[in-house]
Amino acid sequence: MPGWQARQHRPVTLAAQISEGLAPLVDLIYPPRCPLCGEAIARQSGLCGACWAELVIPGEPACALCQRPFGGAAAEPGAICAPCMADPPRHDGIAAGTLYNGGSRRLTLAFKHGRRLALAPMLARLIAARLPVLEGEWLVVPVPLHRWRLWSRGFNQAALLAAELAKRDGLTLLVDAIVRRKHTPMLGGLGRKARARALSGALAVSPRRRERLRGAKVLLVDDVLTSGATTDACTRALKRAGADKVVVACFARVLDEALDGALAAGGAIETGGTNETPGAEAPGAT
Ligand SMILES: [Zn+2]
Ligand SMILES: [Zn+2]
Repeated sequence: MPGWQARQHRPVTLAAQISEGLAPLVDLIYPPRCPLCGEAIARQSGLCGACWAELVIPGEPACALCQRPFGGAAAEPGAICAPCMADPPRHDGIAAGTLYNGGSRRLTLAFKHGRRLALAPMLARLIAARLPVLEGEWLVVPVPLHRWRLWSRGFNQAALLAAELAKRDGLTLLVDAIVRRKHTPMLGGLGRKARARALSGALAVSPRRRERLRGAKVLLVDDVLTSGATTDACTRALKRAGADKVVVACFARVLDEALDGALAAGGAIETGGTNETPGAEAPGAT
């Protein structure tokens, strides 16, 4: 298992040093503004204080298997949450930059639908801060977008985050490791079993990458983790292809309680996720 302690020391790359050095010049030409509310801020690559304060970073103590925060309740080291107890996960841990709420929702929608692609490094930075120590060689694999959706949007947000994470930590990006074999309907509004059914057979390892994945350690990246049905289907495909470990990394994690609450209220969580129906404006959930 990877260690889940927060990482303290990270090597600073030359590219990062150069971009840091250029920052004052860029700030002079384009005065930095908060990408969410337009408030003036000190640096290009952040949010204003009020928008930062809206983001919730998952806390400790947390489930030993899926890192679900226990929400302030005391827990023994190694304690496992009820959902993991009922249905042990296939993955080897979940690193979430934030918990899904109004603030992280606005950020992901701005990133995807507002095409604020410049947010990618900041979102990746928040994810990276939550990653365990990844020893040895890790492959970074995004949850794929159906090619129809990729064509209409022009980019896969999960792939952009995966590329940023790979660049930051010197990991190998394998952008086409998983492919969508069929289009899946919108998952928002579907229950857990219906989501799993809708995804069955939809996600598979690319035959070209099968060899590369045997025995590999994989960081599986998505922007929003809702029920986990999509990442679970990806994890199953990766492990069937022989992957040794799969750690899930996401920017915003919807805790099941929030999802169940939304479903019980007859609504869907709006994430603009990777499973939207082509042409539909309303974002679906993954
Ligand atoms: Zn702001
Ligand atoms: Zn758990």
